Amino acid sequence: MDYATYNENSATLYNVSAIDVWEIHQQDETLFADNQTYECPSCKIPLLLVGLNISSPKRVYFRTFSQKPHDSDCEEFSSVDDSSTYSGSSIEEDGLIDTSIDTLFFKQKSHTTKIDSTGNDAVTPLHQSVLNKKTKNTLTVDEYHSRRSISVSLHRVCLIINNATKAGKPWGNMPVEFEWPHIDKNRNVLKYSGVQNQRTTLANIVKNNKNIPPLSDNHDYIYYVDVHVSLINDNQYGKLYLFDFGDNYHFAKFSPNRLKGIANIDRIRSAERDTTKLKIMLCGHFFKVAGNVVFSPRTPFVSDFITIPDE
Ligand SMILES: [Zn+2]
Repeated sequence: MDYATYNENSATLYNVSAIDVWEIHQQDETLFADNQTYECPSCKIPLLLVGLNISSPKRVYFRTFSQKPHDSDCEEFSSVDDSSTYSGSSIEEDGLIDTSIDTLFFKQKSHTTKIDSTGNDAVTPLHQSVLNKKTKNTLTVDEYHSRRSISVSLHRVCLIINNATKAGKPWGNMPVEFEWPHIDKNRNVLKYSGVQNQRTTLANIVKNNKNIPPLSDNHDYIYYVDVHVSLINDNQYGKLYLFDFGDNYHFAKFSPNRLKGIANIDRIRSAERDTTKLKIMLCGHFFKVAGNVVFSPRTPFVSDFITIPDE
């Protein structure tokens, strides 16, 4: 299920979406810190939020505890596999969620740390603090809705697509707005590029192996692609991971150092070792220089330009 009722000791009660809760928790670990404070909106049985504490999940969703299925008259009861159910287009109760009309708004994440001159990505402060397990904060329904209306992470795009795909629901026509400028390593905002679209659909932003835009189209996109990974020796830069889109044209190269700290980096290593394809999401644009096609990440911050979902 994608939706559940958030029930914090019966004091706070409203409906939430799994992906929204995940994103809010990723930005502030003290919020929605417990993955067991949920219940079915129809039959009120307890639900578990799967994937909450994973920084790069393939999907996040609510599922029942095995010993407590939905009531036999619950609309969710007939679902064979809880993980594949989709609770419908809307929930009409207090804490109203209506996915059919929501436009998802993506804004640039604020990075407060300096980018170091070696080209390595600064670690964003989001996950640095060691969370005191006792620290746990609760959002009111209004605070929840104001936070969920603005998204920041590339990985959230990945989750929306994976969740929709799993539910057999098309995602391409989902209405979205992006304010993701292209920021160079000196923090200058480049005007010609960026993912900056008002009122468009997800399909106009997210490209796969089959619909890669032409190079002359000098704008950033989100590429959700299968790549071959190899480790090459570059005369100038030393060892580099090379992500090959398989069209003999689009390649993205990163030093292992540059990718340090990203979730699922071990999947890059094993894809290289086993020569298996790897599914990754990249955000940026390609351009040609001296006969080579070069990938330019949308920002210098690694979490803004690459994410690797769990298998
Ligand atoms: Zn139920």
